[in-house]
Amino acid sequence: MNIFVAMDKDQLRNLAESGNFIPGIYNYCDRWCERCPLTSKCLNYATTEADFSDPESKDISNAAFWDKISEMFKITMEMIQEDAEKLGIDLTLTAEDREKFDTHEKAIKAAIKRNFCTRQAIRYTKIVNTWFDKSEVIFKDKGIELEGKVVMDLPGSDPEHELHLLTDAVDVIRWYQYQIFVKIKRALHGVVEDMTDPVEVEEGFPKDSDGSAKVALIGIDRSIGAWGYLMENLPGNSDDILDILILLEQLRKNVEAKFPDARSFVRPGFDKASSR
Ligand code: SF4
Repeated sequence: MNIFVAMDKDQLRNLAESGNFIPGIYNYCDRWCERCPLTSKCLNYATTEADFSDPESKDISNAAFWDKISEMFKITMEMIQEDAEKLGIDLTLTAEDREKFDTHEKAIKAAIKRNFCTRQAIRYTKIVNTWFDKSEVIFKDKGIELEGKVVMDLPGSDPEHELHLLTDAVDVIRWYQYQIFVKIKRALHGVVEDMTDPVEVEEGFPKDSDGSAKVALIGIDRSIGAWGYLMENLPGNSDDILDILILLEQLRKNVEAKFPDARSFVRPGFDKASSR
């Protein structure tokens, strides 16, 4: 039995049209909802909360979770179909369309794979894993050191806060580890697509590729900060961390060079028009 009271199409439309949300805010965020300062303005968050608020639904291994996903898929597809019909858009693809699309996508994928930013971002995902595998002992030692501080209860020492900061740094690194690559890939997809199949874009109109590159850059900036914290607070491992920081800094510069307008892209809700 499905335990959920489903949000139907009309409820979803009413919610979207309530005026309570910032349109498209979720397109250029980092999807870290637990840390997001704008959950109350996000339709994506609101629908997720409504649909997955039962504790059982939070468990990804629970069949009900996937029931809900497939239910949302059905509703969304119905809405797309209805909107397409209203706009007179035929969503059916012919075999020829499909073949053209596949060839086009293959060429784009190959170009993305060859790009230096992609290769650096992939390398980063790997060296982070290697570093964490190698550093188990260092974290264990740090844990012992912090436990000792708790026992000693020295004035001016706050081991719980230290642990909290350390955990935050690790969380930040892990959160962005793959996202940086994914966002760079998406940004490059837009660039290569524009080169192979140029679409008339109004001068000054924000490009999706710049938005994705900006999210990647934010992930890189925050990861650099988090690695800096680890370097200072996990002595004995600074050479390896320095190598990682150098790679991230090179990647940051390369992404900025490839997407010179990314930093000034205004993400709905998160940035102000003049911010960089
Ligand atoms: S905007 Fe915030 S709440 Fe919405 S999906 Fe992104 S991180 Fe989550």
